[in-house]
Amino acid sequence: MREPPNVLVPPAPAVEVLSAHKTYPDGTVALQPVDLHVAEGEFITLLGPSGCGKSTLLKMVAGLLEPTDGRLLLWRKPVARLEEARKRMAFVFQAPTLMPWASVADNVRLPLDLACVPRAEAETRVLDALALVGLAKFAKALPRALSGGMQMRVSIARSLVVQPDLLLMDEPFGALDEITRHKLDSDLLALWRAKKLTVIFVTHSIHEAVFLSTRVIMMAARPGRIVEEVAIDEPYPRTPDFMVTPRFAAYAKHLQDSLMRASVSTDEENP
Ligand code: ADP
Ligand code: MG
Repeated sequence: MREPPNVLVPPAPAVEVLSAHKTYPDGTVALQPVDLHVAEGEFITLLGPSGCGKSTLLKMVAGLLEPTDGRLLLWRKPVARLEEARKRMAFVFQAPTLMPWASVADNVRLPLDLACVPRAEAETRVLDALALVGLAKFAKALPRALSGGMQMRVSIARSLVVQPDLLLMDEPFGALDEITRHKLDSDLLALWRAKKLTVIFVTHSIHEAVFLSTRVIMMAARPGRIVEEVAIDEPYPRTPDFMVTPRFAAYAKHLQDSLMRASVSTDEENP
């Protein structure tokens, strides 16, 4: 039978994790076989207790860690053999890891220097990236002159300077105070929409996950695995007002219960 003509074309896959699993050399089963499909333009959050394999999964997607078995595809090509696709991806770690002796602009320019981008073009892209994170005035400052939140913005600017399509973020705001985190969450959403990014974001904050995501992936530990996927079917732009709605509370409650179950099963299996 022919399909009706008005069927919507599904978005192209950005990331495909196909039965990928990871056992570390010491025998730790960090992740049981996992399947995850992320379409272009999604904002996916990996949520779960410590040790459930969030970082392991993200590093495998980034090609920083080999799976024990299974496959990882970015834009339908294997991650490991993908110099071109790697250039379309950036990784943001929890600590800003800035060079303390170098200015903000020099820090942000580093990936372009490593890629031998001509200096004039690099300077322009650095200023653009700094403007995107609201730090245009701080190009010449040293990292130690900035607050923790501003240093994290520098780190995000350094990831944006390569003009990625896919942003992988491992608890990027975990070390920041609540208010700074909310501000950066809102700014990240604005960036995601403006640049049409695909984001995979790791957190253990339920509220952050609901606020940001198109879809939340709940994981459990020992062994690490995906236990549930929850679509956050709410329009964007999302403002802090969303966080005081009954719908937000319902999502948070659902995920809280799911997280409790994920944590309880972990404790029972490993008394
Ligand atoms: P999460 O980011 O969710 O806290 P991780 O992916 O860091 O979880 O870790 C998953 C499991 O793998 C944990 O039990 C952790 O102790 C273990 N693990 C992580 N890295 C290594 C490693 N290099 N060698 C051995 N075990 C590891
Ligand atoms: Mg981690």
